[in-house]
Amino acid sequence: MREITHFIDGASVAGTSGRYGDVFNPNTGEVQARVALATVGEVDAAVASALRAQQVWALVNPQRRARVMFEFKRLLEARMDELAELLSSEHGKVIADSKGDIQRGLEVIEFACGIPHLLKGEYTEGAGPGIDVYSMRQPLGVTAGITPFNFPGMIPMWMFGVAIAVGNSFILKPSEKDPTLPVRLAELMMEAGAPKGVLNVVHGDKVSVDALLDHPDVKAVSFVGSSDIAQYVYSRGTANGKRVQAMGGAKNHGVILPDADLDQAVKDIMGAAYGSAGERCMALPVVVPVGKKTADEVRERVLGELETLKVGISTDLAAQYGPVVSAAHKQKISDYIQMGKDEGAELVVDGRGFSLQGYEKGFFIGPTLFDQVKPDMRTYQEEIFGPVLQIVRAESFEEALALPSQHQYGNGVAIFTRNGRAAREFATRVNVGMVGINVPIPVPVAYHSFGGWKRSAFGDTNQHGMEGVKFYTKVKTITARWPEGLSEDSAFVIPTMR
Ligand code: NAD
Repeated sequence: MREITHFIDGASVAGTSGRYGDVFNPNTGEVQARVALATVGEVDAAVASALRAQQVWALVNPQRRARVMFEFKRLLEARMDELAELLSSEHGKVIADSKGDIQRGLEVIEFACGIPHLLKGEYTEGAGPGIDVYSMRQPLGVTAGITPFNFPGMIPMWMFGVAIAVGNSFILKPSEKDPTLPVRLAELMMEAGAPKGVLNVVHGDKVSVDALLDHPDVKAVSFVGSSDIAQYVYSRGTANGKRVQAMGGAKNHGVILPDADLDQAVKDIMGAAYGSAGERCMALPVVVPVGKKTADEVRERVLGELETLKVGISTDLAAQYGPVVSAAHKQKISDYIQMGKDEGAELVVDGRGFSLQGYEKGFFIGPTLFDQVKPDMRTYQEEIFGPVLQIVRAESFEEALALPSQHQYGNGVAIFTRNGRAAREFATRVNVGMVGINVPIPVPVAYHSFGGWKRSAFGDTNQHGMEGVKFYTKVKTITARWPEGLSEDSAFVIPTMR
């Protein structure tokens, strides 16, 4: 059986724990490889390597660091097909979607290519008599990232792209469900010219995560995954004095006002709800039509679209989405569908019986639609993370605004309308971190930053953009004077700018 090894100090390192995780082919349901789960000692080795590497890397001038990022970008583009196939083979998302996953990460690398400009500090000449004040952003040292299964390309690059460009080294602990692509990214970073140890990959579970959270030489941890683990990582990491940003789960709503272009809105919602089998933190699993007429029309149009929606294996170029990541996840989604039915929501389309000829053991689940979902139902309150769309009917704009605002999660939200004033009002008042106006998946571009509110994010700094640069650097402020002769100022009182 193929074994997926760690990548430490520029080399593949076989695991010694004797513990392994199964990596499936979600199309067939077969185990295709096993991934070594790290020991504390293996994490320590990765940190030691990263510490050595960072001391040298931090002295490389920013333009040279940017050149490594440029070359990495070039390599990603040249190998896009091969990387997307690799991603799909373990995750199950269709090839075009895997290319999108890698492309969104690549855009953060493009942002990181501008690091010489982004790292320029601030300068005040003549802040006092003969006194100049300036600030600089310095790297933190060894940094780490723990990533989820659903974006094995984009999310690691959100993190290490910025962390490494500013002069840190980085240890990636990717999801154990689809760990091969992250290793490939680390190999390509070495090929692009990053010194060994600047990017290490250790695979694992709670043991390796805890080891990173407790290690005194790890200065910052970025996490993306489910909310309970995000909160745990945030609490443990910050208790150990680290900087932590921890992004969690989501339940994004798409509000449709009666004046919206319904053809466009429903097409957008189909892709956002069912694309990647709903396994996106920015998916739109809840649609909130305002008024009965809008709701009935949305329901009819969704049903019409479902007639032609094609589910297939991840390499089927005509398929809109593929299997979910594991049998356990498929079971969890099926349990939620049953729960929704038991709670009294109307199960309009049930995807549980879906089966693909020749791939009967694959982790497929058909598109599912619920209507008459109520805010007190558990299936509304919790994240399902599958191809399940729930219609929650609202009577008014205020009711539609209150639903996402009062939900425990606050990652993304979208509003569909032709009314600019209503859209502006919604965007201003909604209690959610990322808002789309006639944009179903409002993932910000790389030079803005990504982050939700409430239980969708712990910590106060977002991913990538200037927020990412701030997270991975610390500010030093220097106040300087070059007096001629003896200064007459008293040294006994606090200096002020009189
Ligand atoms: P997960 O929380 O199960 O795993 C995330 C990471 O945490 C993995 O690397 C995993 O190995 C590790 N982990 C799991 N259990 C742990 C434990 N007990 N202690 C320490 N570490 C542990 O999440 P997932 O299933 O891989 O990903 C899906 C989740 O991620 C969804 O909730 C989704 O909404 C969320 N997500 C959020 C964002 C965002 O930006 N807000 C982006 C993508 C995914």
